[in-house]
Amino acid sequence: MEQSETVLKAFVKQLTEASGALVEEIEPNGLEIISTQELQQKLKLPELTRLGFALERPKGAERVGLETEWLERLGRLLGQKGQFLRSVAPLLIQTMPTPSNPERILEHNLTLQNAIYRLVKVSPAWTRYLIFIFHFTAFADEKRDGILRLGINLSNGSLIDNFIETLLGEITQNSNLLDESIKLPPLWNTKQLNYFLEQALPRAIDSSLSQFLAGLKRRQERDLARIYDYHKQLRRESLLRMRKQPTETEQAKIQAITREYQAKIVDLQQKYDLRIDVEWVQTLEVIMPVQRFELIIKRRKGERHFHLDWNPLAKKLESAPCEYSYSLEGKRMVCDDALHIVSELAHRDCANCAKAYCRACHLLKCPKCGKSKT
Ligand SMILES: [Zn+2]
Ligand SMILES: [Zn+2]
Repeated sequence: MEQSETVLKAFVKQLTEASGALVEEIEPNGLEIISTQELQQKLKLPELTRLGFALERPKGAERVGLETEWLERLGRLLGQKGQFLRSVAPLLIQTMPTPSNPERILEHNLTLQNAIYRLVKVSPAWTRYLIFIFHFTAFADEKRDGILRLGINLSNGSLIDNFIETLLGEITQNSNLLDESIKLPPLWNTKQLNYFLEQALPRAIDSSLSQFLAGLKRRQERDLARIYDYHKQLRRESLLRMRKQPTETEQAKIQAITREYQAKIVDLQQKYDLRIDVEWVQTLEVIMPVQRFELIIKRRKGERHFHLDWNPLAKKLESAPCEYSYSLEGKRMVCDDALHIVSELAHRDCANCAKAYCRACHLLKCPKCGKSKT
């Protein structure tokens, strides 16, 4: 049995059992299920059924695989279950690992272009991460789909892309109880979360699809060049004939070539028209102790307390957020007024008056010239 088949079998067993069925493993590679009414409807199965998960399967068993038909049936049964999960990492705050050289780790991870910072202390703290999982499908002349994960530390807005896979590998749905005295960073409200996703999701999809988009652009340019060359040649031949002996038929032919060329360009635009569907799959809330690096950031006369968390499961310090774009790219700057940490792009010059300003402070327009955001 291949690994994917083993996983699928275990999943179907758990899901049907959780839905009230009596399930027994039978050889080879199968399950025997006595289903409830609900199960019979949603999985389109008779009351007593045998399912097989590999090529070799029990006598009379229906083959279950990762094809659309079965995924739809299981999806119907799964419904909303499991779309929100909360996990408390099995780590004790007293005994979790500690970073060996915090100053060095910080130096490696945090550079501020126009400000200085000082590490005040490193101490254990609790934090709350949210991990969003999306499924996206891109349609153009070809189709591509994939799974995308976006994770954020709610205590400071840091993205946790550099260790999201480690977290997902380590956490499981569990019933670890959380001591009521533990103070967690508050959950973000819908407006904050929407803003975060609006900023971070399109960029993350772009970067997941970068190869696909580059291929699409290459194919489109190749087709455009081919159509251009072909019609240019036709037109040239027609013009030569016109020069020798102008006729109305030839004149009409040239016009027809131009029309055909324009129509072909429109066809190409449709062929390469890109549509991306994004579907939210799951949100995980991960609660765990971390080592908190408390900092003081100084810019001109201003000072701001800020922190970055070192994750004891990944043994990594998170990157400083861009408090405007939630992008991982670009160097970090600190703004004059609120001492926001933002990427260079979020502190770039205004396209109108060429003065730099902080997009986190001024969401809508440039404070110097009043021109709408550029
Ligand atoms: Zn301006
Ligand atoms: Zn600012």
